[in-house]
Amino acid sequence: MSDTKNMTLSSRILIAMLSGAVLGFLINEFGSGVAWINGYITEGLFEVVGKIFIASLKMLVVPLVFVSLVCGVSSLQDSTKLGTMGLKTILLYLFTTGIAVALAIIAAILVGPGEGANFPTQDYTAKDAPPLINTIINIVPSNPINAMAEGKMLQVIVFAVLFGLAITQAGEKGQKIAQFFQNINEVIMKMVTIIMKLAPYGVFALIAQLMATLGVESIKPLIKYFLVVVFVLLLHGSATYTLLLKFVAKLNPLIFLKKMRAVQLFAFSTASSGATIPVTMETVTKRLGVKNSVASFTVPLGATINMDGTAIMQGVATVFIAQVYGIPLGLTEYLVVILTAVLASVGTAAVPGVGLITLAMVLQQVGLPVQGIALIIGVDRLLDMVRTAVNVTGDATVSCIIAKNEGDFNMDTFNDPKAGLLFEEVNLPDGETAKS
Ligand code: ASP
Repeated sequence: MSDTKNMTLSSRILIAMLSGAVLGFLINEFGSGVAWINGYITEGLFEVVGKIFIASLKMLVVPLVFVSLVCGVSSLQDSTKLGTMGLKTILLYLFTTGIAVALAIIAAILVGPGEGANFPTQDYTAKDAPPLINTIINIVPSNPINAMAEGKMLQVIVFAVLFGLAITQAGEKGQKIAQFFQNINEVIMKMVTIIMKLAPYGVFALIAQLMATLGVESIKPLIKYFLVVVFVLLLHGSATYTLLLKFVAKLNPLIFLKKMRAVQLFAFSTASSGATIPVTMETVTKRLGVKNSVASFTVPLGATINMDGTAIMQGVATVFIAQVYGIPLGLTEYLVVILTAVLASVGTAAVPGVGLITLAMVLQQVGLPVQGIALIIGVDRLLDMVRTAVNVTGDATVSCIIAKNEGDFNMDTFNDPKAGLLFEEVNLPDGETAKS
């Protein structure tokens, strides 16, 4: 029997997740009225461990994105390549999100999750969705330090790209700086490795707390809506990406999905594609074979603007709310929903729950009552986890396609099951373990 030391990171996370879910469920069923359990365990231990875990992931995001992007851009031989690569990446991200929301609308129309439902009308005050125009204007940071301090990813990306380009043009001095950044990059990657080792504990606490506070009851009235969203998420996560990988990138989707397991589990437990960036980056470069010059650009950009899972929830939610309120939508409205959901996905911050805020924007565009959001809020936390796993899978899929297309892809790494077995221990024949 293998002990926990010999398990891969993803297996350990999975076990932590399941045991967290079971414990949380038991607390919800039998211990939710007990003051000390609530005070010391659910709102105490679980809260502290979970929050520390998320904070330690987020701590790495800005330095990691900045440093690896500077390394990536400064290693590009040809700076025009960056422009074409950037355009292709953005178009592909928008395209996959468009497919995602179209699938969501079709499924919701076919199943009709809100038809015949008799929900009490509830009040919901929508928070203001960030206007898209602001996202575009704010792309250039007036103060890069402030952008880093506030974790504004698009601004950090713009500054890093410019910095990297300048390095390539600064001759010998630039080369010294490039070398300096490559060294820091190594150190930051080691920090990622250290934090990842603690992941199972963090994941356990996050899931246990969620289940202890949520319980299963909240899903029941919305089961049809919940299942349609999950179905489309799984469909898009398996079929769309599989087809793109197989026919556009000519890569084996099964190998891809297997290697993406740890990233998906991280995204699922943190419900934040932003916090998952360090894991996505490691996996995409070291396990899947995307060169850093591509991944350092596509991964953080994807985490910021590409939210296929979020768009799916918004597509199903719009049709669901229209059905509950008995407001018919026509073809034009559906097209507007597709367009706005794609734009909303660009404007959705990569943190938990923001998809629900930008949903207000989609509803308003087609004249649906924003307070309809109150109907689905109860199950949104769980859906957020699944859709974030889809969001990060989309980021990695597009990264592979672009890298393959640009000739910046290492097929040997992709095909090697052990390549970059990051943070995971590999069994040696004599039973010892070696860190890869
Ligand atoms: N939690 C999602 C993400 O970080 C965003 C959302 O749908 O709320 O990718």
